[in-house]
Amino acid sequence: MATTKKDIRALTKDQLREFFVSQGDKPFRGNQVYEWLWIKSAHTFEDMTNISIETRQMLEDNFVINHIKVDTMQRSNDGTIKNAVRLHDGFLVESVLIPTKSRSTACVSSQVGCSLDCRFCATSRLKRMRNLNPDEIYDQVVAIDQQSRLYNDRPLSNIVFMGMGEPLMNYNNVLKAIDKITSKEGLAMSPKRITVSTSGVPKMIKKMADDEVKFNLAVSLHSAIDEVRTSIMPFNEHFPLADLREALEHWYSKTKSRITYEYIVWKGINDNKEAVEALIQFCKFAPSKVNLIEYNPIDDGEFQQANSEAVNMYLNMLESRNIVATIRRSRGKDIDAACGQLANKS
Ligand code: SAH
Repeated sequence: MATTKKDIRALTKDQLREFFVSQGDKPFRGNQVYEWLWIKSAHTFEDMTNISIETRQMLEDNFVINHIKVDTMQRSNDGTIKNAVRLHDGFLVESVLIPTKSRSTACVSSQVGCSLDCRFCATSRLKRMRNLNPDEIYDQVVAIDQQSRLYNDRPLSNIVFMGMGEPLMNYNNVLKAIDKITSKEGLAMSPKRITVSTSGVPKMIKKMADDEVKFNLAVSLHSAIDEVRTSIMPFNEHFPLADLREALEHWYSKTKSRITYEYIVWKGINDNKEAVEALIQFCKFAPSKVNLIEYNPIDDGEFQQANSEAVNMYLNMLESRNIVATIRRSRGKDIDAACGQLANKS
């Protein structure tokens, strides 16, 4: 008879300790197994060498470890690595390691596919199939940390939730994963080195503020004019800019932390002065940083990167109003690992 065994990593440490007590063992055994699961990232019960063979068999009979598997790894000319990650039920997501001189950044996925419909993003063409579990998000980070140590001789320094999916539509699991990533019983990374990027879900931004999260927030804005934003990010009709702005004001009043905006300048869409002025009006209420991201074409060529004069106009106008602005060059383009290219060819 087929039984569905439970994913052991869905258990908290206390639940694991209680499980061992219910088996007539010591609660301490729960701590040992917990350490194997999270700090040592064991893929199988056999790996748990300080646990007796009988206990390992008992765990095998009761649970599974739904570990991710890196199916294929591609390395770009610029050192960027893209992983196609196989989940236990066969779905694929992607995650990326972006090494620079001073940083080693992991870009991780939060959902299989995406329910939003940003017209310039490759992932939007995949239907949202399901949310990732906390351990599936955590595993991506662990895999990339190992690659960073192997190829660049240093551990991971930063994490961005800019892979597939909308992290705020999978808020609870993203939060649980970040708890593990920042915990001493996980990777012990600082939340200040983690950025959650959202296309702007006002209710969830407010919730994050109320939950007093310690990680950074980035908003993929791309336009501060409703009509334009709705034409490129149709969900903006349901979450209009006024609501987004109100949520961000709430975020800032609670956290006092700077807001980062992701912004692409496209030819004929937002490469004009009015667009920049609207952006300034939108973000000037709080300390802000605007990352002007280079557009990575996805196959059908409907959108085109604006020329450098337009991007420089953004830089100059933003800086003249004391808004920090940077141009972010794309990485890993040759292997479709750049922003918005995930799922382009897999
Ligand atoms: N859903 C989240 C995170 C995933 S997208 C969000 O929207 O923020 C990560 C970033 O890549 C976002 O800033 C998004 O706007 C940007 N992006 C999407 N498609 C892109 C493309 N083709 N070229 C460059 N950036 C793109």
